[in-house]
Amino acid sequence: MRILVIEDEPQLARHVVGALSRHGHAATAQNDGILGLALALEQQPDLVVLDLNLPGLDGLSVLAKLREAKNPARVIILTARGDVEHRVKGLKAGADDYLAKPFSMEELVARIEALGRRVATPASTDLLEAGDLRLDVQRRRVTRAGHNIALSPREFDVLQVLMQEPTRVFSRTELCERVWQRDHEYDTRTVEIFIARLRKKVDAGFKDPLIHTIRSVGYTIRPPDRTQATTE
Ligand code: CA
Repeated sequence: MRILVIEDEPQLARHVVGALSRHGHAATAQNDGILGLALALEQQPDLVVLDLNLPGLDGLSVLAKLREAKNPARVIILTARGDVEHRVKGLKAGADDYLAKPFSMEELVARIEALGRRVATPASTDLLEAGDLRLDVQRRRVTRAGHNIALSPREFDVLQVLMQEPTRVFSRTELCERVWQRDHEYDTRTVEIFIARLRKKVDAGFKDPLIHTIRSVGYTIRPPDRTQATTE
């Protein structure tokens, strides 16, 4: 993967670039928010490792501008340990994952490679449907009632898992494992934020919502004609 590391602690940036290079990635570092954003927009990396506290422009603003520009890079944010507020803000602003400082390089590399992997798809079909919602696995395109919906890579992955088995209820834990490959650090809040982001993009403005919360169980996607019987 081509990876841009936006981090202003020179030693940490060096270590991260070194570890990623050893794992076969083309990694470069930038130590300033404004310059980092410019480089991300120009070079279109596959993934951005983004520190939040940066000179020039803070990480959350860099992230917002990347998403505003519809930049498709996957973004993993680096937060101070216990900094829940920033983590939540980062995920809401369009980040795909986060890592709390201090972290081990093995963990960062594992997270990055998990983000690079596509969610496994049954070979049967490339076009998933639920009601008037269509998801094209190969082209990574989503439309509802014929209108294009722009999703971040991780939003797409969550929706893809739900749409592979419409009407099946996925627990937050299962979604977390399927999408983020986090098997030990289970985090319901992350899943909830992504579902909220998806609802805004997929269901807002439509009479029949497709994404449903099944209380105490999890989430499911259902075409409208099947919702009457069992919706809470
Ligand atoms: Ca910093």
